[in-house]
Amino acid sequence: MKASGLVLAAALAVSVASLAVERSSVPEKYTWNQQDLYATKAAWEADRDAVAKRIPEIAAFKDHLGDSAQGLLKALETSDAIEKQLSRVYLYASMSADVNTKDAEAQAMRQSVEKTANDYSTAASYFEPEILAIDPVKLDSFLASEPGLKPYKPVLDNIVRMRAHTLSPAEEKVAARMSAMAGAPSSIYSIFTNADLPYAKDVKLPSGEVIPLLDAAAYAKYRALPNREDRDFVFKTFWTTYGAYKRTLGTSLYSVVKNHMAFKDVNKYDSCLAMALDGNNVPVAVYHQLVSDVHTNLPTLHRYLKLRQRMMGVDQLRYEDLYAPIIKQVEMNYTPEQAMETTLKAVAPLGPNYTAALKKGFESRWIDWMPTTGKRSGAYSTGSAYDVHPYQLLNFNGKYDDVSTLAHESGHSMHSYLSNTNQPYATAHYSIFVAEVASTLNENLLFHEVLDQQKDDSARLYLLGERLDGFRQTLFRQTLFAEFEMKIHEMAEAGQPLTGDSLTKLYLDLVKTYYGDAAGVCKVNDLYGTEWSYIPHFYRNFYVYQYATSMVASSSLAERIRLEAAQKPAGGKKPVTTARDAYLKMLSGGSSKYPIDLLKDAGVDMTTSAPFNAAIAEMNAIMDQMEAILNKGGKPRA
Ligand SMILES: [Zn+2]
Repeated sequence: MKASGLVLAAALAVSVASLAVERSSVPEKYTWNQQDLYATKAAWEADRDAVAKRIPEIAAFKDHLGDSAQGLLKALETSDAIEKQLSRVYLYASMSADVNTKDAEAQAMRQSVEKTANDYSTAASYFEPEILAIDPVKLDSFLASEPGLKPYKPVLDNIVRMRAHTLSPAEEKVAARMSAMAGAPSSIYSIFTNADLPYAKDVKLPSGEVIPLLDAAAYAKYRALPNREDRDFVFKTFWTTYGAYKRTLGTSLYSVVKNHMAFKDVNKYDSCLAMALDGNNVPVAVYHQLVSDVHTNLPTLHRYLKLRQRMMGVDQLRYEDLYAPIIKQVEMNYTPEQAMETTLKAVAPLGPNYTAALKKGFESRWIDWMPTTGKRSGAYSTGSAYDVHPYQLLNFNGKYDDVSTLAHESGHSMHSYLSNTNQPYATAHYSIFVAEVASTLNENLLFHEVLDQQKDDSARLYLLGERLDGFRQTLFRQTLFAEFEMKIHEMAEAGQPLTGDSLTKLYLDLVKTYYGDAAGVCKVNDLYGTEWSYIPHFYRNFYVYQYATSMVASSSLAERIRLEAAQKPAGGKKPVTTARDAYLKMLSGGSSKYPIDLLKDAGVDMTTSAPFNAAIAEMNAIMDQMEAILNKGGKPRA
């Protein structure tokens, strides 16, 4: 069994791709080779039926896990074998469903496996409590006497680690019922903001354009309008709409926090934050470190804001100006072949083995490239077919962003490839905390490769500007969210009630601090204090901080790897590859160690400021380059 149990691909926010062509018109080389999983649908069906028949095997070990080392090993191996087979069966079905969301047959295939997966989870639910019931001394002697159990040590350690927070069977029953109810605020929030919230209709902009409905998706698009009066109007209208419901939305968010507090007490944690981070064994100090590093480095954010003000040519930067374009978008177009070539060149600092494996993946159809009719939107990589190979779903439109997505997903694919080939099944699965390091590191390498090749100042300015805003949005904005999330839990834990007004005050104070309102760096209208009510991630229990930590870790690693790769050793000496090798070891490590330790071994200690400082140094280097171009007189085309 995997450290985190059976993972089925998340079917979050599935919507259909735009700019689609018919699937039948796409050349085979741009489609993924599903036959590597099963040659035919009949073969898939046979395997699905076979794995469903194996589930009763699990029941045979019930009440016997503590009997002997050999018995425990047999039970773990059996559950792994079933999970592995089930994952492959599920993947085939979900890939079929994803390339055509309107294909009822494919949807039914997926549903049939979901049912089998549920049956398996129920049948195997006794594993953790029974393992916990084994006397620790006895469990140690099992591990010492049966070498076959060695690969399972991290999994067993992780279960035992949670002993102090594990409930009695009777409490467990009550907690399971509580969990079923705990999702209510999130469901209500989602229905309310997506279906019922009366968004402004037929909004006429000062410039004359009419927006039929100013909902969240329209806001995300129109807040970036180049005309300042227009976007001011969009901001004011949208936040007035949300502001009218801050009491309801505040009550909803308070309910989530109260849920967390109830579970914290039941599971005997000191704080909601400690409970949330304990799943991946991430120390609370990492979270505090991130928040404190961001505050120390607010002057770097302010430097960016002043640069933005200069480039936009405005007297006073305002919060409404943050999404407006500062540089005219430069058209860069890529074919899939050019995208692959650029990505392979970009990841060259990761060494010949990494590059060769990825090239082979590109050539052997790991990827489904094109947006086709009915295909789900977005992109993902999956490594859940342990002994086959990773797969990627893309919706490639030939822009720089699409190449960046390819590099990102290829980071995940190679992480899966390396963990799956180097780890036993039990520890092959990696956690989110390290996953986004692998993907954002490749984005980082791609950015530097494309920038280095680009000689045109306007194009360079565009690339630098986009990257810089990526830092603002990921490092600063996500950490602001993380700090808000931490503070609302602290307030509730201290007995202070959360209301629409108190949440708005807290949020506004944070935004004003981050964006330097008092010093006049960027003025924030009080009306926008209700922005918290539009962020769905606050319903995901301390999730967003990982966006920031991943970017911090990958900036720090990428910098060292790039510097090393740039060195030309004299006189036939072997090049130094210490940073690269340590990083590849992390990618090969799956969940054989806790994520924070995997990163530490790779040279990134997330409990210190060093990695954050590397990211800030990169941000400042980007601004140095932008200012040098601007000072040349190369006036940006706004
Ligand atoms: Zn990702």
